[in-house]
Amino acid sequence: MGWKKLYDNLIAFLDVLPDDVDPIRLLQRIQEWLRVSVTHFGSDIRAVYGLDELVSMDISRYPTSESEFSAPEELRQLRRGPSRSKDGLAMRIRDLFWNGTTVCSRVMCPQCGAVESKILEDRISREIILACDNCGYAEKADGEPLPEDRPRRADPIDKERFATIAAEPTRLTRPYRNP
Ligand SMILES: [Zn+2]
Repeated sequence: MGWKKLYDNLIAFLDVLPDDVDPIRLLQRIQEWLRVSVTHFGSDIRAVYGLDELVSMDISRYPTSESEFSAPEELRQLRRGPSRSKDGLAMRIRDLFWNGTTVCSRVMCPQCGAVESKILEDRISREIILACDNCGYAEKADGEPLPEDRPRRADPIDKERFATIAAEPTRLTRPYRNP
């Protein structure tokens, strides 16, 4: 199946969703589609964008309602225009899941100053880290920069961990306590 047919197929599958779709419903619907369509992407694209991990991801574990993710806007963008390649479509889906399951701190990235860093969890140590989606800068929760000379993998934090962090009056979460 070519990229255009795959894209049309996804949009048709999302047709049941209302314009003001709930974020969890949007991610779940895309996941349902991905479950039956993932083989059409081919093994290279599946590996690069972690599509198989997205298929098995338990979306309900993550603090989606606390993310900056606007489901109606994402749905509108998806419906408005195709991503001109399978690679582009896979990247878009990966980004949707990432933005829908990760939360922002209120710490502006000290390197690029363009966006607030995300509150993530280091995949190996399970330590909380702050990382910038824009430039890749990362630091520990106390502000100590993480070395840039080794590859870093980080995951979204789950709801329980977010609740624990949000209950502490730290530089990461103050706005969540006092909106
Ligand atoms: Zn940055």
